Amino acid sequence: MTTKILLCVPFCEKDQAKTYGAKWDSDLKKWYVSSDNIHLSKILERWEINSDAIDLIGEDRTFGGNALFIDMIPSTCWFTNVRSCIHPSDWDRVRNHVYERASYTCECCNINTKEKTENGGLEAHERWEYDDIEKTQILRRIIALCHQCHQSTHMGLAGILGKSGEAETHLQKVRGFTTNELKLHKNTTSSLWRYRSGFSWRLDISIISQNGIRIIKNIKTEERLTISNNNIDGSRNV
Ligand SMILES: [Zn+2]
Repeated sequence: MTTKILLCVPFCEKDQAKTYGAKWDSDLKKWYVSSDNIHLSKILERWEINSDAIDLIGEDRTFGGNALFIDMIPSTCWFTNVRSCIHPSDWDRVRNHVYERASYTCECCNINTKEKTENGGLEAHERWEYDDIEKTQILRRIIALCHQCHQSTHMGLAGILGKSGEAETHLQKVRGFTTNELKLHKNTTSSLWRYRSGFSWRLDISIISQNGIRIIKNIKTEERLTISNNNIDGSRNV
């Protein structure tokens, strides 16, 4: 898969950029090169990757709604996500965009993390659709969550970190769950997680690449389980 890499090319250097195969995107009003350009390393040495503010065109900002829920990632998909496929500076652009458009307010519990810091700062949570027929994990939305909501969302990880009680209390408070409702929600989401963890999933982050963000690491489906296992083993060794 080739992607467009947007470049910061000053007007007076456009002819040199052209000789390296750079092209002008008239919609975005930016110079770009294809990720398979044979001169890519020379181009990136000479011109910076575009660092403008971004917009995630094609994202479904209603996906999953805005109610807090347990949204565990299948174990076969652990450690391979948007963040692991793009440059750290691009990840910063993505998450800062998500925080700014939410006015630094958690999109689930509505706490403003600039005014009240007890819930921690904002964190970017990737919301995925799981195509159970094609076995594809598709990025649909990136939502700004405070640390407490993010911790409750990843209830399995909270358990590993010894934070189950804290995560459950916060979820119960935000959703107004009774003890039985909380138990039912946990059981339902655990069953779904166990089912989905039984499969390998193809990663689809096309809403990232389609918005001109360079994919620096293409993760093959068959590599994902190995990456997950290696990282879990690594974590255990720490
Ligand atoms: Zn929150």
